Amino acid sequence: MNDGGGSNLEIAEQSSFEAALRHCCSKCRDYLKTSELKQNNTNGNGRESFRCWLCLGLWQKEGENQTTVPTTTTTTTTTSCLGKALEECCSPYGGIGRNSPNRFSRLANQSHTVSLSGDLCLRYRWLTSILPSSSTPLPFSVYLQDLKQHMYARIESIIQQDNVANGVKTEEEENSQWIQDHQHVFENEEQGALSIHLLCLPPKDHPLNLALNNFMSNHKNNQKTKKQRNRYNKRQKCGPFTTQGGDPRQNLEVRLRSKGYEWISQSTAEELSSAAASPEAPFLPDACKSFDEPMMRIEYHVAVFRRPLFLYGYYTKSRRDVSQTPFVVMREKPTTSEPAANSTSTNSSTKEAEILGVTSVEEQICGPIQDLLGVSTQNNLMPDTPSDGGVLYGMIKFHASGREDMDVRMLVRSESPTCHGRPFCIQVIDALNPIASPNQLKGLAETINKIVTGTTRTSTSTEEISTKNDGVEIDSGDGLCNTGASYYGQNPMGVGILPNALRLVPAAIFSGLQKDTESKTKHYGCYCWSKDVLPNEDDLTKFLFRNVVFPLTIQQRTPLRVLHRRTNSIRERNVLHAKATKIDDHHFRLELSTQAGTYVKEFVYGDFGRTIPSVSSLMGCKMNLLKLDCEGIEIPKEEHF
Ligand SMILES: [Zn+2]
Repeated sequence: MNDGGGSNLEIAEQSSFEAALRHCCSKCRDYLKTSELKQNNTNGNGRESFRCWLCLGLWQKEGENQTTVPTTTTTTTTTSCLGKALEECCSPYGGIGRNSPNRFSRLANQSHTVSLSGDLCLRYRWLTSILPSSSTPLPFSVYLQDLKQHMYARIESIIQQDNVANGVKTEEEENSQWIQDHQHVFENEEQGALSIHLLCLPPKDHPLNLALNNFMSNHKNNQKTKKQRNRYNKRQKCGPFTTQGGDPRQNLEVRLRSKGYEWISQSTAEELSSAAASPEAPFLPDACKSFDEPMMRIEYHVAVFRRPLFLYGYYTKSRRDVSQTPFVVMREKPTTSEPAANSTSTNSSTKEAEILGVTSVEEQICGPIQDLLGVSTQNNLMPDTPSDGGVLYGMIKFHASGREDMDVRMLVRSESPTCHGRPFCIQVIDALNPIASPNQLKGLAETINKIVTGTTRTSTSTEEISTKNDGVEIDSGDGLCNTGASYYGQNPMGVGILPNALRLVPAAIFSGLQKDTESKTKHYGCYCWSKDVLPNEDDLTKFLFRNVVFPLTIQQRTPLRVLHRRTNSIRERNVLHAKATKIDDHHFRLELSTQAGTYVKEFVYGDFGRTIPSVSSLMGCKMNLLKLDCEGIEIPKEEHF
């Protein structure tokens, strides 16, 4: 009885195994090494026009009738599904083919990735579980690894093939010195290189896939997948605000799931099949074991994304109505009539965001960069409704070394070659175009320095800003602080960058930017008021600092104005140099050079005795700082990037 039943089962399995083998490509059959294999192998040749039941055509080349024909990768590849998917995804970036400006990632830790859906694992495990005892199939991990390698090679061959036709560019030779200069950036970090993530999934309406998904949704082991699904959903419903970042690979998955694609991961499939202790365990639904349905080709979904670029430079700001980054405040809306109608909701709804200042340094610098390089939106997650929020991958991040208040100008003392504007670093994530030449950077600096009004604030409403700009006097020649200071460029919005200094830098500069200026010397120009009449002396400096030897060490308690966000402590700072020039009986100019981190305003007026000594305490009367300019940061030549 038992024996008979066993042999019947064996026969049944044998036949379904044979049926399965007949529907597999020769490549897949190789991994299932059985004695029967060799016989079936020769028979199978004619059947290869069908999709392979196991790999859904991953090993097979599209358009080929027989995989037994030695691979000749010439004409079919570019028109194949994979090639088409890659081309489509690369086209916003300038394409994968001829004349594409793109470099593709080559480093091991950043190179292309391939992800195969887990149903492959289930089918492979099922086949190996019903193999005749004489056979010695290769482990699935080997099969998977080889298949991935095969996909890498196909991506590479598609890139290579089209690049060969590209030829050598003359411009590239022209730029060879520049490329040599930026080699560490290009090669070590592959800045601006394109990466490819390939996701191979069974078609959405594949009968085999539908059966599998149905099975999965009923299976107890899907708790984990459900949890993952919830996480994705949660992220999609994270409120009306768009979050920054995200992984383009994950973003692709979320996009596909929202379009109705369902699949299981390799790890879930592994768990599922290893949980099945005996071959009879139903880890593959019966519907998947049928070979009546015509097999459909696997679908390729691609995420192409550009690795970040880091640009470094120095900026000046010659206006007192321009902030460093967009300065948004919540303002109470002026209350109109009809208070009774919706009195409960007015409290929250009358506040609205207002942007202070005519523009910002960030916008003036990032705008032209965005215009030149473009930022891809195809790796973002954008919601169906605006209230759902989303995930932005492509963006330009502005980061400066320290900041000055909106009403403080950022200038340079032109007489000193080591005196610079404020260092900044721009991180360009997922640019549509790479930076390919020194001329592009030069042109970029020129655009920023001569930018015309109206090209600003591309992202928000331009009308509001342009009306604000009307009638605003350009604060260019306000020499009250120091006539010897100047600024970069001719941008009427008051923002300029040091020409010929903008360059690509390693990513580490971006993170180290903040602490970098802690040790630097900074110059300031102050326009001050004195309550007492200033003496009629030629040399006000000698009078004010008569008992002082520079460098002068001062003790500064945390200023009252920042006490709400900093801990109260005393710190010592050095004032390295000071020069005072009388303007009239109550006003004078003060040029200072201080150690970074000195509170200049407090050094002038004393902060109610919290800064000792101060100009006020030295003079012995009340003083005030009316206008302040930062007049540059000393950056030694060897520290230039
Ligand atoms: Zn196959």
